[in-house]
Amino acid sequence: LTGGDEHYDATDKDIDKALRPLSFDDFAGQDKVVENLKIFVAAAKRRGDALDHVLLHGPPGLGKTTLSHIIANELGAGIKMTSGPVLDKPSDLAGLLTNLDPHDVLFIDEIHRLNPVVEEYLYSAMEDYRIDIMLDSGPNARSVQISLSPFTLIGATTRSGLLTSPLRARFGINSRLEYYDAKLLTSIVQRSAEILGTPIYEDAAYEIARRSRGTPRIANNLLRRTRDFAQIKGTGTITVDIAQFALNALDVDARGLDDMDKRILSTIIDKFKGGPVGISTIATACGEEGETIEEVYEPFLIQEGYIKRTSRGREATEAAYLHLGRQMPQHLRG
Ligand code: ADP
Repeated sequence: LTGGDEHYDATDKDIDKALRPLSFDDFAGQDKVVENLKIFVAAAKRRGDALDHVLLHGPPGLGKTTLSHIIANELGAGIKMTSGPVLDKPSDLAGLLTNLDPHDVLFIDEIHRLNPVVEEYLYSAMEDYRIDIMLDSGPNARSVQISLSPFTLIGATTRSGLLTSPLRARFGINSRLEYYDAKLLTSIVQRSAEILGTPIYEDAAYEIARRSRGTPRIANNLLRRTRDFAQIKGTGTITVDIAQFALNALDVDARGLDDMDKRILSTIIDKFKGGPVGISTIATACGEEGETIEEVYEPFLIQEGYIKRTSRGREATEAAYLHLGRQMPQHLRG
């Protein structure tokens, strides 16, 4: 049993912040990525240089934003946050870039969604720490070059395949985050419970962990909801029974698949005879954006072996049929 009994009262946003690891040592998992980043950060510090630009990719909720804050902390630098779709025009970016102190981090989330004009403007900033700014307009218009403080751009993306090659080439460090295994997520759930002051048994933490789609954000969310059940239906302590009750009430099944995962699988199986079927067709049938299915749901379903990606579209595997309690037709097997 871990976790104290002090009362913790805060909004979800405060809780999110409280649960966020602040140093490499607090950050569980992604060992290879973290080991490399530690070395690059230490080397940049020793040389007195800005850290090379970093691209972090992987599904949502695996720690890209968290790692960026940690990198800034470990560099002893500041961090400014923005995201691809928010940067409408070059002047939006110029405003941010000219306000950076030496060695600061500029974090751009969803960097695959940068407007091409803004993206092009970023190139010289990344390469030479310089940008051109237009002064005046009409006949007096002229452009002046401004030097920037040496900075580190950290780009995060769920879809590294959508990055243009000139942008990708400008990142010296390129790291891919992977789904977490249940053991690591168990320790993340225990750490979070401790911070929340909620006592939790190890088997209960494991139950939440193995049903969290390999994702710390989901594990933390399920922990918070389970804690509500423990406080209202139980004694406040999270036992494995409470965890199972809560997860079932939240429609998270035994393998961690949620409602949309199951809808996707049953659509492929029942409406399209197991596939192959295209993502946009699946999306329409499920009432979800194709992009969301591709970024959020599909990577997990593929990793867990429920879906196969073929040149003709997505196919349900035998594991998907079994999970939904269906028989895979003989002619589709093997
Ligand atoms: P992303 O930017 O990849 O979508 P975040 O960095 O926002 O993901 O992570 C989501 C939440 O999950 C964070 O609030 C943090 O508390 C938690 N988290 C992510 N990675 C870890 C980790 N390795 N150890 C502990 N908690 C983590």
